[in-house]
Amino acid sequence: MTAQRIDGNALSQILRADVTKRATALKAKGITPGLAVILVGENPASQVYVRNKVKACHDSGLHSLLEKHPDTLTQEALLDRIGALNQDTSIHGILVQLPLPKHIDAQKVIEAISPAKDVDGFHIASAGALMTGMPGFWPCTPYGCMKMLESIGYELKGKHAVVIGRSNIVGKPMALMLLQMNATVTICHSATQDLKAITLQADVIVAAVGKRNILTADMVKPGAVVLDVGMNRNEEGKLCGDVDFAGVEQVAGYITPVPGGVGPMTITMLLVNTLEAAERI
Ligand code: NAP
Repeated sequence: MTAQRIDGNALSQILRADVTKRATALKAKGITPGLAVILVGENPASQVYVRNKVKACHDSGLHSLLEKHPDTLTQEALLDRIGALNQDTSIHGILVQLPLPKHIDAQKVIEAISPAKDVDGFHIASAGALMTGMPGFWPCTPYGCMKMLESIGYELKGKHAVVIGRSNIVGKPMALMLLQMNATVTICHSATQDLKAITLQADVIVAAVGKRNILTADMVKPGAVVLDVGMNRNEEGKLCGDVDFAGVEQVAGYITPVPGGVGPMTITMLLVNTLEAAERI
């Protein structure tokens, strides 16, 4: 069996076209959805990420404000800026690019963002809303994974989903979203014993570790759906995921490639969240 690929670029195009349509409708009512992106310091990867986010806003007809600050910015000054953006009616979403310099407490900064503008979904209020099934912003990467499952018409009810990784931004919210859709969920992490025995039972596997080849063909049940969140570099410096794609593709029913899988969906869901923040006004 060769797995069907779930194309994150193609799905993103469809979802972004819908964002543009809804943004146009909002503009007709005098509201232009706006995202503020704050970058502190010179981290090269972060610079690429924020550039991509700003470009995605522009391409979808959303207003964006990019604020670049030197890494000498104090925590107090950053909190002041967030306070001002919380009050700014032209801004509906606020994103602080992580990681922040060491002298700044990232959690404190995230908690300073108004939950109504927390389009990254990292605020403790957003996490609590997801935990309790209340309305709130879902973190973009696992939200994108859910959209990918929806795009193939996958019925999660009663299925066994295994999430490898338990970070606050991917693994844990992913598990909660799958649970909300009535999957039976197992979360694996670095202390999990016999990962293979668990993944072999899975109908859906989400790999969110950050280690190449954490999931190989012998660990996958034939026909399973495999979503690869990982972003790593191989020996040649090429982007690759956590999954041994060539091997797992021969066993799985569906698989997401890297690049062109979950990655583009993350930015797409940021646009969706920003649009929804503006629609809720
Ligand atoms: P993270 O905070 O480093 O979390 C990694 C998780 O993997 C941890 O929970 C860790 O367990 C677990 N882990 C480590 N070694 C393991 C092993 N041998 N077996 C099972 N679990 C193991 O990373 P993250 O922020 O969640 O990101 C994960 C990956 O996704 C990274 O490659 C990141 O670059 C990528 N990512 C991609 C996107 C995208 O848009 N495509 C977005 C976000 C992240 P412990 O908790 O026990 O340490």
